[in-house]
Amino acid sequence: PTPTAAAFRAGFVAILGRPNVGKSTLLNRVLREKIAIVSPRPQTTRTRILGVWNGPGAQLAFFDTPGLHRAEGPLNRRMVEVGLSTLSEVDVALLLVEAGTGPEGRVEVGEATRWIIEEVKRSGKPAVLGISKIDRAPKEAILPVIAAYRELHAWTEVVPFSALRDENVDDLLRTLARLVPEAEQPLFPPDVLTDQAERQLAAEYVREQVMLQTRQEIPYAAAVAVEAFDETEREKGRHGLVRVAATIYVERESQKGIVIGKRGALLKEIGTAARTGLERLLGCKVFLELHVKVDERWSEREDALRKHGL
Ligand code: GDP
Ligand code: MG
Repeated sequence: PTPTAAAFRAGFVAILGRPNVGKSTLLNRVLREKIAIVSPRPQTTRTRILGVWNGPGAQLAFFDTPGLHRAEGPLNRRMVEVGLSTLSEVDVALLLVEAGTGPEGRVEVGEATRWIIEEVKRSGKPAVLGISKIDRAPKEAILPVIAAYRELHAWTEVVPFSALRDENVDDLLRTLARLVPEAEQPLFPPDVLTDQAERQLAAEYVREQVMLQTRQEIPYAAAVAVEAFDETEREKGRHGLVRVAATIYVERESQKGIVIGKRGALLKEIGTAARTGLERLLGCKVFLELHVKVDERWSEREDALRKHGL
């Protein structure tokens, strides 16, 4: 038989895993652009985010999902539903688990992860196990993790990687590319990077700073809405400017004072950091105006969740 050129492949991949395993960091690394916000806190990602990777001979459309975890309250339930419905829509499941930093020995597979594995099994889809954060794990700690997870499911492939250090991410991409279907053409035009509009990204960059710079319940009490995104002065060369006005909604009056800080100090910090990130993303100067308002217990109200795009 005459060898034929390798066929083009294209498909959808769901990035799954419990909160904080590094799903969003991986997506940002793959796309070389920060489209998903990241924080050391669990449940940073609230909605599903599409990111498209174009590689040699393949296109992979990733869905970054909110971490799957025990659902308590309407917001958390919504986040879990998003993760599960995504699994039903993709060609390949990529489950991330952390390499672990402890010494060799027993590997504890958390309840949330066991539950996701059950869902992955039920889906019958090819499933890749990604061992994340290997930069902070001693080599000896990785093999027992692989062994423990191989007992729970017949993974199509297992790939250890570090998104932070860009180690083995290429290998992970090649592995996934082999598992998506052959395709006549890509699923998305080559210039599509994400389904997140710049306006949405602006709101997310502000929310990321709230998550990073506040404590206790505040990170989870905040939702951000962009009221204005004015690009009329964007193409003015080095005077180019995008004007963004955003409102941070919190659940109670007392939280409002905390987010604003003494004489507005914290709000100013949040604004400066978000603006710096946005300027990098948009490639021009950004004028960012922030307001803080109370939307009484929004995370517990269905109508408010809809209003905040959740
Ligand atoms: P997600 O909740 O699964 O989306 O996780 P994030 O991407 O938000 O990451 C959670 C935390 O883990 C953040 O503090 C990241 O900086 C950190 N993290 C993610 N990937 C890596 C990695 O490869 N190595 C290390 N050391 N930390 C990572
Ligand atoms: Mg995330």
